[in-house]
Formats: sequence, C-alpha cells, structure tokens
Amino acid sequence: MNIHAVLHEAQTALAGFLSSGEAKHEAQYLLQHILKVNRAWLISHENDALQPNIHAGFQALLKRRLKGEPIAYILGYREFYGLKLKVTPDTLIPRPDTETLVEAALAKIPHNSTSKILDLGTGTGAIALAIARHRPQVYVTATDASQAALNIAVENAQNLNITNINFFLSDWFSALEDEKFDVIVSNPPYIEQDDVHLQQGDLRFEPISALASGKDGLDAIRHIIKTAPRHLNPHGWLMLEHGYNQASEVRKLLTQHGFIAVSSVKDFGGNERVTQGCIV
Ligand code: GLN
Repeated sequence: MNIHAVLHEAQTALAGFLSSGEAKHEAQYLLQHILKVNRAWLISHENDALQPNIHAGFQALLKRRLKGEPIAYILGYREFYGLKLKVTPDTLIPRPDTETLVEAALAKIPHNSTSKILDLGTGTGAIALAIARHRPQVYVTATDASQAALNIAVENAQNLNITNINFFLSDWFSALEDEKFDVIVSNPPYIEQDDVHLQQGDLRFEPISALASGKDGLDAIRHIIKTAPRHLNPHGWLMLEHGYNQASEVRKLLTQHGFIAVSSVKDFGGNERVTQGCIV
C-alpha cells in the first residue's frame, strides 16, 4: 500500500469518532511519528510504498487511538503556547483554553518584571513554562502534589532550556511555608465528581486528581482562594482557570476573601474561563 492509501484507510476508521478534519490530521500525525518526518514530506511522498514494518507500527498506533487513548499520550507530546511539551498519563494534557490564563497572566506582568510567580498544580509545567519563557526576568515557582508529574515538568524545562523556574512537590501551598508571590496562577481540577464527561473521550485516560474536585467541582478552588492571601504580596494577583459555568461562583468566593478588582476573562469559545482578583 502507498502512503496515500494507508492514510485514507486510517482516516476513514478515525472518522467513526472524530470530525473528518481531525481524522485526517490525526492519521497524518501518527504516520509522521512512525516515519519521523514532517507533514510536508508526507504530502510530497504520497505515492511512495510503505515498508511492511512501518505499516505494522502505524497500525499498532492506530489501534490504540481507535480504543480512545488520547493522541497526545500516543505521540508523547502536545504543543502549548508555542512550546512542545512532553506529556504522559501522569499529566493532564494541556488545553488551548488554558492559553487564556497564560495571556491574562502575561497582561499583568510587564516585560522587564522581576516579579515572583507561583503556578499551583503545574502538571506538565505548561502555564509556568509559558510565563517563564515570555518573561525571562521573573522567577517562577511551580508546584504539584504528584512527583511523577513534576518529573515531566522538570524534563520539559530542561528540554526547553528554561531556567528561571523551580519545581516543588507540594499539595497546593503546603510546602511553601511563608513564601509570598506577586502573581499566583492555577488551572486546578474543577470538574464535578459525578460529571459524565469524566467517562468520555480523552478524560478517561487523564489523572482524575487533575480533573475532578468534589461535588460541585470547586473544592480545590475554594482551598486556593482561602489560602492565597497569606502567600500574596500587597497588590498581588490570584488568577484561576475554572469551568464554563463557575465564573460567578469564583468571583463571589474571591470577593468574600477580600480580593478586589475581581473580573473574569473569556476563552476563545466565548466562555468565562479565567477569574482574577487583587489583594490589597
Ligand atoms: N478544562 C478541562 C476539561 O474540561 C478540565 C481541566 C481541569 O479540570 N482543570 O476537560
């Protein structure tokens, strides 16, 4: 079989649960991964025959994808805010929605700032690394309660040669003692524990501790909002990602805990996705 035929067959199979555009791209990603080539090469070699061992390797990856395993875990990486990040089943897969949080944080941190930034529950390190890369003079502290996730985050920092960052094993603020920061960001778990989406798509394969947080999904957010004032310098900001329907509750919690200038920011899908407040 030639490359064109193999891709077409895979695309048809993947279209059983993906849109036709996604199916086409994912078939290409999987074959690029096996062949170690870029997309331009693949397209210009459509009529080449595929060696049997390469074809077999491709079929094995395709089979995993058809069983629902996330493409990011099969490929072993995901692009986030222009950074190529290693991902494994120990880490949440970074989402495009979370770029909203990075942009909101960068908007509060001037280019030459030497602020101290904290990212709680860093996972792959996505948010922390994006901020550290775009604001080279800030100092970022990133925590996670999972040593396995932290190992991936450290590896990502090394691969990207980002050095203005440090990683700590910590259950939210627990390992930080009295340390204070100028901006605290977090994409904590915020899905309701009984939400049916946890049983669907990529989420079935991701760490539940990075996704779900109690009955209304707000357990982690409540803890962070309650504890953050002790770890913020005067005029410091707390900025949280949350569910599409949680913005008003998060604004209320921030206001109750003394935050001012509380507001929410919409993601690219038009949902209020990030809520922020300032401590006096
Ligand atoms: N935004 C993710 C989702 O709904 C959830 C990630 C999280 O809980 N922080 O799939």
